[in-house]
Amino acid sequence: MKKLGFGLMRLPYSESEEWGHVDLEKTKEMIDAYMAQGFSYFDTAWVYHGGFSEKIFGELVAKRYPREQFQVVSKMPVWELKEESDLERIFEEQLKKCNIEYFDYYFLHSLGTGNYESAEKFHGFEFIQKMKAEGKIKHIGFSFHDNAEKLDQILTKHPEIELVQLQINYIDWESDNVQSRKCYEVAMKHNKMVAIMEPIKGGSLANIMDDAKKLFTDYNPNASVASWAVRYAASLDNILVVLSGMSNMEQLNDNMSYMKDFVPLSAEEQDVVAKATDLIKSTIAIPCTACRYCTDGCPQKINIPRMFELYNESKRYGVASFKWHYNEELKKSGNPADCIECHLCESNCPQKLQIVDLLKEVGKTFN
Ligand code: SF4
Ligand code: SF4
Repeated sequence: MKKLGFGLMRLPYSESEEWGHVDLEKTKEMIDAYMAQGFSYFDTAWVYHGGFSEKIFGELVAKRYPREQFQVVSKMPVWELKEESDLERIFEEQLKKCNIEYFDYYFLHSLGTGNYESAEKFHGFEFIQKMKAEGKIKHIGFSFHDNAEKLDQILTKHPEIELVQLQINYIDWESDNVQSRKCYEVAMKHNKMVAIMEPIKGGSLANIMDDAKKLFTDYNPNASVASWAVRYAASLDNILVVLSGMSNMEQLNDNMSYMKDFVPLSAEEQDVVAKATDLIKSTIAIPCTACRYCTDGCPQKINIPRMFELYNESKRYGVASFKWHYNEELKKSGNPADCIECHLCESNCPQKLQIVDLLKEVGKTFN
């Protein structure tokens, strides 16, 4: 199987609300071009495109191509489970929407603190094993958003899991928050295959600062900036697939051009990526290391390192791309505006950051 997976979550936009604002005609053209070049892996989920992604897959792929010509993965939205019977209800509906008899791969969606506990509570792991035994799933796994320790804990408890989907890209490889490298190493320790999501970090690594871009184009003027990020991810061992949520034919054609006959990054190319990573990281506005020494004592439960991470990202790639993440974080933790200036966090910060003032700056940036 070729390693470029078609993520069905950022499909071409249409003004029409029908099909969840997805332009079906353009999507069909992209799917046909992708299949024509021998690619075959589709990644969908219950929640993508307001619930239409699976239906679009069913209409444009499953109804139009022989079953043996494609592989498809979908995912169980564990946060929607209210009782155990929801697992079967959702799963059967997914098969119907996708117009198939079985999933090649099936994941518990977005495990991490909270969703993992919900998956355990409603016996999600037992359910996917049962569906596998009945032939309705070929391979079971989960997608993951948390730290390496949590991943190790889940994989130790569930050796039946065959693969994990992780966020891996060259900027997050050593990140203390995302922990790409550490999570990948845990997956290797447990002998799991890995599907990679966010290789271009939501598109931001296609649009990097000029100096870093120059490093790439000086080395190879014919390769797109995005191609370095996708090839970086695909060069790791034991990778099943690297997903790209492609939104137009241009992105698809670019991705296919270097993934059709994939060549891993050479040592020299890895060096160029390392230099670009250093350059991009040197523009980091707040040098927080995400050690979290500041968070435990905060009476307002402000997720300080996450706030600083989002601020740093917004400085590099623009506020618009991170406003949604900021608002999502505020649903789970305290608002910087509610800081009572007790300065407890500052006394614990090994980087000696002026946290109170910096939080004010974060609040100003996102409001
Ligand atoms: S100064 Fe603000 S952010 Fe720091 S511990 Fe006190 S309330 Fe929390
Ligand atoms: S203690 Fe300082 S460096 Fe550590 S997470 Fe908090 S703000 Fe960041």
